[in-house]
Amino acid sequence: MTDNQSAAVSFPDVAVLGAGTMGAGIAQVCAQAGAKVVLQDIRDDLVDKGLGRIRDFLQKGVDKGKVSAEQRDATLARVSVATDRAVACREADLVIEAVPEILELKNGLFRELAGVVTEDCVLASNTSSLSLAKVFDGVAAPERCIGMHFFNPVPLMKLLELVRTAQTSAATIERVTAFSRQLGKEPILVVDSPGFASSRLGVCLGLEAIRMVEAGVASAEDIDKAMVLGYGHPMGPLKLTDLVGLDVRLAIADYLRKELDHPGFEAPALMRRMVAEGKLGKKSGQGFYAW
Ligand code: NAD
Repeated sequence: MTDNQSAAVSFPDVAVLGAGTMGAGIAQVCAQAGAKVVLQDIRDDLVDKGLGRIRDFLQKGVDKGKVSAEQRDATLARVSVATDRAVACREADLVIEAVPEILELKNGLFRELAGVVTEDCVLASNTSSLSLAKVFDGVAAPERCIGMHFFNPVPLMKLLELVRTAQTSAATIERVTAFSRQLGKEPILVVDSPGFASSRLGVCLGLEAIRMVEAGVASAEDIDKAMVLGYGHPMGPLKLTDLVGLDVRLAIADYLRKELDHPGFEAPALMRRMVAEGKLGKKSGQGFYAW
C-alpha cells in the first residue's frame, strides 16, 4: 500500500463516526484500501478502544500470515482518531456514521454535519434497519446521502448493501459503488424500504424456522441442517438467530411487522417467551442451542 494507492481511491479522506464494533471495522477496511481515515467517538477511551480493535485484528492477520507487517503498519499509519466531530469531518470527502441505532441521534448528527463538511462530501449511514429518508430528513443536499450497510465482522464480510433514497443522485451511487469495490466488497443496490434486502429476507427465514420449532415440525438442529445441507446456507436460520441475539431479531421483527404490515413478520410466541426468560442466544449462553 503506497501513497499512489491512496490517490487512487474514490474517497481519499474518510471520517467514521462511532468507534464501536462496526465503526472500527469500517475504518480498518477504508484505511486498508488506501484512504486516510479519522475515527471519531465521544470520549478518548472509546476512540482508543476502537483503534485497539483495528490493531488486534491486523495483528491476528499477521500471525496467520494473511497480512504483512508492512501492510499492518501502513494501514495503522493512515488511521487517526478524534473526539471532536467537526475536526474529524471538515476535510472528509466521505463521512460514514456508525453510532447506535437511534433515529434522533443519527438525524441530529447529519443535520449538524451538513454545516461542517464541504458541499460535495458524501454522507453515509450504516443503519441496519432505519428508514434512510428519516435518517437524512432535513439534511442539506440530500442527493449526496446514501446508506452503506456493512456486515459484521466488517473486514471479513463481502456484502455491502447500498441503500438509495428517492433523492440520492446517480453520481453518488456511482462513486460509492466504485469505492465499495475498492474496499474489496461486493455491493448490492436497494431502494430505501424496511429491512432493505438482507434483514427482510434473513429475519423472515428465521421467524418461520422458529414457528416450525414451535409447531414441532422438527428439532432446531434438523431445521438448520435442512438449510445448510439442502440449500447450501453457511449456517442454519436458528443458529444465526442465536448469534445475532433473539432480542435484536425480535425488535427487527416488530419493526418490520408494523412498517410492512405483513403477517409473516409477526413474532412467534416462542420467541417472545424466550426473550422474556433471558434466553437471548449466544450472548446469554442459551438460545435454540446451549452455548
Ligand atoms: P456499538 O455500540 O458497538 O458502537 C457504537 C459507538 O458509537 C460507540 O462506541 C458509542 O460510544 C459511539 N457513539 C455514541 N454516540 C455517538 C456520537 N454522538 N458521536 C460519535 N460516536 C458516538 O454499535 P455497532 O454494533 O457498531 O452499531 C453501530 C451501527 O451499525 C448501528 O446503527 C447498527 O444498527 C449498525 N450495524 C450493526 C451491525 C452489528 O452486527 N453490530 C451490523 C450492521 C449494522
